[in-house]
Amino acid sequence: MSERVNCKSILIGNFGDPVWENPTEFMMTAVFEHHDMKYRYISTEVPAESLKAAFEGVKAMNYKGFNCTLPHKQAIIPLLDGLGESAELMGAVNCVVERDGKYIGENTDGKGYTESIKEITDVKDKTVLILGAGGAARAISVEMALSGASEIIIVNRTAESGQELVDLINDKTPAHATFHPLEGEYFIPGGTDIVINATNIGLYPDTTKVPIDLKSLNSDMIVSDVIPNPPQTQFLKDAKAEGCTTIDGLGMLVNQGRIAIKYWSGKDVDASVMRKTLEDIFA
Ligand code: NDP
Repeated sequence: MSERVNCKSILIGNFGDPVWENPTEFMMTAVFEHHDMKYRYISTEVPAESLKAAFEGVKAMNYKGFNCTLPHKQAIIPLLDGLGESAELMGAVNCVVERDGKYIGENTDGKGYTESIKEITDVKDKTVLILGAGGAARAISVEMALSGASEIIIVNRTAESGQELVDLINDKTPAHATFHPLEGEYFIPGGTDIVINATNIGLYPDTTKVPIDLKSLNSDMIVSDVIPNPPQTQFLKDAKAEGCTTIDGLGMLVNQGRIAIKYWSGKDVDASVMRKTLEDIFA
């Protein structure tokens, strides 16, 4: 074997529980092969009680970083050396990056979403309605607010978490937020520019209907769904039938991964390779 052959891999991965349904490893592996990058992304099932030990392993094995998914997005924070701006605001980390021997927590979920919507419209001064107040809604709303959205309406089943997110947006970002309770079918107020389903509703195999009165949608609205599987959710199909422009959840998934790779490697990779890999998996 030639001495020029490099057998050393740069390790990164995903810590979560469960991870079997998370397709990130496939899109990462495909794009690393495409660019001939010597990175190995390993999906690892880490139960909540093992996170600290797993993180010690990360440091011992010199990982360049890793994604964090449920249930670790908040639990990882006290173990880290620092946080990026949006992770600090959201209080959640989905991407850890080694920089000069320190492990810093970032959040690429909201950035991934805003990048995919910016391909279609300028977020500045828009009124954005978000259904849900969990991790995805939190990441998206904060990042949309930091990107210049002026009004954010949070609609959630549980009032406490909805109001908590509204308070966070009002206290920590330049946007103005209001909470609307989700009771029965929600009627979207006129003047809404962007509607986002950031609940779990519609994630395969769930066939529950997103509780929005379809008559309140109109063709001036952009409607998006965070659900990556199936990419064309029933909600998006219904919105398209009402004349809305739609954006699927694959854009967010691909972009958050692309931003993570940029953090880990400094390289801009080809997002179309990642998207094609996911489309093939979900076909
Ligand atoms: P969380 O558990 O943190 O939050 C779930 C949210 O959905 C809560 O607001 C919850 O309301 C609401 N919800 C769930 N079921 C219902 C229902 N039947 N009726 C009304 N509201 C409901 O989850 P996440 O925010 O982390 O994830 C949400 C979805 O986002 C997941 O399906 C995930 O796949 C997707 N996601 C996609 C990403 C992408 O890159 N495309 C990235 C991250 C997440 P309540 O507070 O009342 O319980």
